[in-house]
Amino acid sequence: MDKHYDYLIVGAGLFGAVFARQAMDSGKTCLVVERRDHIGGNVYTEEVAGVTVHRYGAHIFHTSSREVWDYVCRYAEFNHFINTPLANYEGKLYNLPFNMHTFYQMWGVTTPAEAQAMIAAQRGEITDTPKNLEEQAISLVGRDIYEKLVRGYTEKQWGRSCTDLPPFIIKRLPVRFTFDNNYFNDPYQGIPKAGYTALVERLLEGAEVRLGVDYLACREELNALADTVLYTGPIDAYYGYCYGALEYRSLRFESETLDTANYQGVAVVNYNEREIPYTRIIEHKHFAFGKGDKTVITREYPADWTVGAEPYYPVNDEKNQTLYERYRQLAEGEKNVLFGGRLGQYRYYDMDKVVAAALALTKEIL
Ligand code: FAD
Ligand code: UDP
Repeated sequence: MDKHYDYLIVGAGLFGAVFARQAMDSGKTCLVVERRDHIGGNVYTEEVAGVTVHRYGAHIFHTSSREVWDYVCRYAEFNHFINTPLANYEGKLYNLPFNMHTFYQMWGVTTPAEAQAMIAAQRGEITDTPKNLEEQAISLVGRDIYEKLVRGYTEKQWGRSCTDLPPFIIKRLPVRFTFDNNYFNDPYQGIPKAGYTALVERLLEGAEVRLGVDYLACREELNALADTVLYTGPIDAYYGYCYGALEYRSLRFESETLDTANYQGVAVVNYNEREIPYTRIIEHKHFAFGKGDKTVITREYPADWTVGAEPYYPVNDEKNQTLYERYRQLAEGEKNVLFGGRLGQYRYYDMDKVVAAALALTKEIL
């Protein structure tokens, strides 16, 4: 006879793991089921040729929340990594995010006043509030940067034209008139020294974890084992796509181990031309200041998503938000099922927001 648990947690990603930790610390018992053959969800890291590899793409932890930072630091020691990616356009390198280094490389301007004047001249064509990503980008950094560093990258990333994408996507990127290549504005940033998998392992300590289990394939049986379910998989899949499938963007990762100590000199290089099919190459060892003789690099190819493929990025446009809202209303009517995380809440969530949301939920219900 299977044991009875307070919580059945579907998904061993960050949301599920933080929820499990808080529940267990309140004396509750947890069974975690995970479809993949490992814990961690998309933050999963593994050792390859002496390098800690981020299997599902570069993951840099950054937050402005002291509470979230203190929380994750209880379970992992973080290094002092600061993300300073480069953009490669037709073989020329530009610093990101858009800052005085980028403006110098683009136009040869050396002062903030010159850079601002250049952008002011180029943004003149946008007179109203930006209606789409193209207008938003031109209004922030002018047409030259839009054409070279935004248009191609964004269109391959999202598989649609910049005029069909919402403005908010580009507003994630800082624009600075200082010589500062830090990709993020947040005061706390770093990467767990022992990798994210070790962090998630610590969070899950004490829970029973069953890997390779698809909840949706045996939900009656699993539901019978616990009082409450926390579901962190795709909300539309939970409801059998009854209103239709929510759209996602997918990704394909191609990794190589090279007999080279240092391939590109930095963790992330974006490839911004449309003609190059991948959006970026990451060299994993630089996330951890690795010193070995070998290196592991990963090319990240954006891909269309169809039901069954790995859903990476929710497409938060109006059509999908409206559809999500219908699923959310169904979810609200559930008595013993909670929904959380990037897929359960169909949100473009960074890790810190996932931790904050899981902490908020547990504060509310435990
Ligand atoms: P997930 O990690 O997706 O976990 C959900 C888990 O549920 C998965 O393991 C899945 O297999 C499992 N599951 C789904 N359905 C079922 C089922 N039916 N049965 C059993 N298990 C199921 N954030 C940052 O802060 N910084 C970054 O630099 C950053 N980079 C990113 C780069 C990429 C390429 C991507 C895709 C995301 C990035 N993120 C980053 C976001 C980060 O990955 C997410 O915030 C975080 O992983 C979300 O955690 P989660 O638990 O909500 O979801
Ligand atoms: N972006 C861009 N050029 C770049 C990097 C980013 O145009 O070199 C745009 C692109 O539209 C992307 C958005 O900025 O979707 C947000 O970038 P971020 O790096 O935050 O996206 P992520 O890859 O983390 O989803």
